[in-house]
Amino acid sequence: MRRRLIAGNWKLHKTRAEAVELAQAVAEGMKELPDVDGLVAPVSLSLAAVAEAASGSRLQVAGQHAHSENKGAFTGELSPALLKDAGASHCIVGHSERRSLFGETSEHTQAKVQALLDEGLTPILCVGERLDEREAGKTLDVVLEQLRIGLAEAGGREVIVAYEPVWAIGTGKTATPADAQAVHAAIRTALGELKAGAPDAVRVLYGGSVKPANAADLLAQPDIDGALVGGASLDAESFLAIMRA
Ligand code: PEP
Repeated sequence: MRRRLIAGNWKLHKTRAEAVELAQAVAEGMKELPDVDGLVAPVSLSLAAVAEAASGSRLQVAGQHAHSENKGAFTGELSPALLKDAGASHCIVGHSERRSLFGETSEHTQAKVQALLDEGLTPILCVGERLDEREAGKTLDVVLEQLRIGLAEAGGREVIVAYEPVWAIGTGKTATPADAQAVHAAIRTALGELKAGAPDAVRVLYGGSVKPANAADLLAQPDIDGALVGGASLDAESFLAIMRA
């Protein structure tokens, strides 16, 4: 019922030419994978070139970040309208690096989710606990609060959620499939309470050191609908191997 989605977050990696080459290789490989959706989030400056390279294929393109306003005196920012104009269909919101390094709060994510939806883009809202929060037994408190605030103004519009335990991002550590499934199931229950889209239709991705070697076990869980992949998305073969899983 929910199509699998494998999304790559390229963060601050790849020149424009490298990004185009990688997108072309992923789009080409996806021809053999009709049952899985694919999406990449390049550096903003490469987004239009990557979208052009992906046009005519099933590979979709996302922003990594957007401001909640479409214009104004916001030096250095980029807007949902500009992302759309450049060819994006989605945008990552509330990634833990935005929260921890750039001061993005759940209130910011709420405004961004609303602005993206108003512009017809699909937000990918990232939620996840830090290691100290997990060790204090607060995983669900933290994750569900980020979810409730982030999606408070989403109404019934299409959103994607990515559960990314902060301690698993870029560290090589992964939540066990059973631990991840437990959080995903709690997220799905909360989506029902929030009336954020049809809860059975919202895709909830897992992120945090997903690799070809661990993807199949994670993706076998009933409430894990795909993956948000950082490091392993920077190489076409490893990204496509996760898609095949
Ligand atoms: C991410 O940045 O969203 C991520 C999951 O990174 P990695 O796969 O490298 O842990």
